[in-house]
Amino acid sequence: MLDSVLIANRGEIACRIIRTARRLGMRTIAVYSDADADAMFVHMADEAHRIGPAPAAESYLLVDRIIAVARKTGAAAIHPGYGFLSERAEFAEACAANGIVFVGPPASAIRAMGLKDAAKALVEKAGVPVVPGYHGSRQEPDFLRQKAYEIGYPVLIKAVAGGGGKGMKRVDKVADFDAALASAQREAQSAFGDPRVLVEKYVLSPRHIEIQIFADTHGNVVHLFERDCSLQRRHQKVIEEAPAPGMTEEMRAAMGRAATEAARAVGYVGAGTVEFIADGREGLRPDRFYFMEMNTRLQVEHPVTEAITGLDLVELQFRVAAGEALPFTQEDLAIDGHAVEARLYAEDPEKGFLPSTGKLWALDFGEGEGIRIDTGVAAGDTVTPFYDPMIAKVIAHAPTRAEALDRLAGALGATTVAGPKTNLAFLKALCGASEFREGRFDTGFIDRNIEALGAVPRGFDPAAAAAGALALVNRESERIAFSSSSSLRDEEAGGWWVDDGFQLVGKRRTGLPLIVEGERVEAVLEYGPEGPAVSFPGHPVPEGEHDLTLVEAEDAMLVLASGRQTSVRLYDPFAVDLEHMDGDGLVKAPMHGKLVAVFVAVGDAVEKGDRLAVVEAMKMEHVLVAPCAGTVTEIAAEPGAQVGEGARLIVIAAEEAAT
Ligand code: ADP
Ligand code: ADP
Ligand code: MG
Repeated sequence: MLDSVLIANRGEIACRIIRTARRLGMRTIAVYSDADADAMFVHMADEAHRIGPAPAAESYLLVDRIIAVARKTGAAAIHPGYGFLSERAEFAEACAANGIVFVGPPASAIRAMGLKDAAKALVEKAGVPVVPGYHGSRQEPDFLRQKAYEIGYPVLIKAVAGGGGKGMKRVDKVADFDAALASAQREAQSAFGDPRVLVEKYVLSPRHIEIQIFADTHGNVVHLFERDCSLQRRHQKVIEEAPAPGMTEEMRAAMGRAATEAARAVGYVGAGTVEFIADGREGLRPDRFYFMEMNTRLQVEHPVTEAITGLDLVELQFRVAAGEALPFTQEDLAIDGHAVEARLYAEDPEKGFLPSTGKLWALDFGEGEGIRIDTGVAAGDTVTPFYDPMIAKVIAHAPTRAEALDRLAGALGATTVAGPKTNLAFLKALCGASEFREGRFDTGFIDRNIEALGAVPRGFDPAAAAAGALALVNRESERIAFSSSSSLRDEEAGGWWVDDGFQLVGKRRTGLPLIVEGERVEAVLEYGPEGPAVSFPGHPVPEGEHDLTLVEAEDAMLVLASGRQTSVRLYDPFAVDLEHMDGDGLVKAPMHGKLVAVFVAVGDAVEKGDRLAVVEAMKMEHVLVAPCAGTVTEIAAEPGAQVGEGARLIVIAAEEAAT
């Protein structure tokens, strides 16, 4: 066995790899960026080495820097995890050139599958069905528009170098084609440094079903059954499961055969995933699935396969990399029960799932029978804007699908996260969605049900806000009583008290100005025989039990109600109110990212909803639109600039004011 491994990755996957490596007796070596200096995986590893500043391009993507650490530390192998350098053929080559074992396929196999167009052509030759479409080299808009017409709408434009659902646009009619093409090319260029796209038929009622394959250096290739990853948003997986609901033995055999053929066609070694799209209109049929791409690495969702096979895929990766033969044949493998994984993300479902970064003031998982948690963070850590905002993967395994979903819902229900907004409530809603539970779903399921799943602005929660405000009032009272045992003076009590001359004794009813979720809200504070109470005129607190969890976060109180967070602060009139300083015409960066395009100039008249600019973050484009009609009076940043969350970008003088 290999005696040591450098993990060229971060977060949960670095932790997960370290765990297996350690069990196998290997010395573990971490590399980290400045943003991760205190991260869980850095503490877990036997040794850790800094490789650069936070941006991945200056740290986790630097081949030479990582190879240098591997050489210095005498690492026998490098495990690339997923993302970052995992699918870079040059990285595999650099390992080989330095006598380091790359835990992954040969560079030639990575290269053969690296571009979606070439990969399609190659597997098609090996007899694997592919989605009808154009995957040649011509890129002129007129030509591709013509191809789209021949293929027939709807079509999908895809970056040939794509990954992670980026650079992909569905087009339903010819009128939208040119704009979609330009946007896909721009995204592809900025995310992958390669603007080329392919155009293919958009499969109707699509089910994403992928096959986990494993190959060794002795010519053995097996598949470890399928995973269904059809619950997606923006072409990115949200919930994955194994096996696929509605799968027949005949279809499984056909897909397994196609996947192992595809792997053989490129001389594959190690763990890989062959992704297929199945036309689910009449259930799963063996003649209606098509190759999409092969991911030449360990997949994020590999734990569901581990659960149903009882195998440790990372251990198998190490064994194969060390030259061992696979310890089983296809006939030895069987499916045990059902497993489901949910990706818990720091993102705000009520704001279009924008990543939501910041300190984790609380993080507690619901453990239980059949539950596995893969995470790379703990309470007190910070989710930074630099990398994937995943907090954890919650995996449930049970004898049946229904039980697995119940276990998953139970674990999610028992999970507490405070600080960043998360998709916890959304994931729970998904677990309970009846059509999904009945196995009636496709990749459009989430989009079609987005409101029912609660991913829409849901407004003010008076019960949560009142509980948070009350906790703050009690905290302040204690603080003041403690710090000033003699007479209470307004100055000592903090700015917000001064505002209305409030005193602990005396006034029975007073206004209590708050900031709830960044908005000014007026509450009423009353002292009755039972002590203080907070209420909101016009927003009665609904009757009944409120299951609330309160988490203190510096000056704020974070109130969790069924996974939904409301932050409450006491209003401080002396603090600068950035939220409201500039009125409605201020357009701010929705998140930390890069300003890639500005469509307006100072002096331009705009209508409400007009496109103003594009901010790119997490390799995704976010279009900023005018919040009101008016005139552009200021553009505060140049295209190409890095902008922080909340940064002032464009100012519009609203119509009335402008005239
Ligand atoms: P796919 O969606 O193609 O099946 P995965 O779901 O495994 O692939 O991951 C999607 C992509 O997102 C990966 O290829 C990787 O580039 C990126 N990614 C996801 N999570 C991370 C992470 N923690 N660090 C870096 N990249 C990540
Ligand atoms: P990526 O490299 O970004 O993972 P994929 O080619 O794997 O790109 O596609 C990502 C997702 O987009 C798929 O899981 C599926 O939901 C959707 N998709 C891809 N191709 C098609 C298609 N031809 N028809 C319908 N949906 C598709
Ligand atoms: Mg994919």
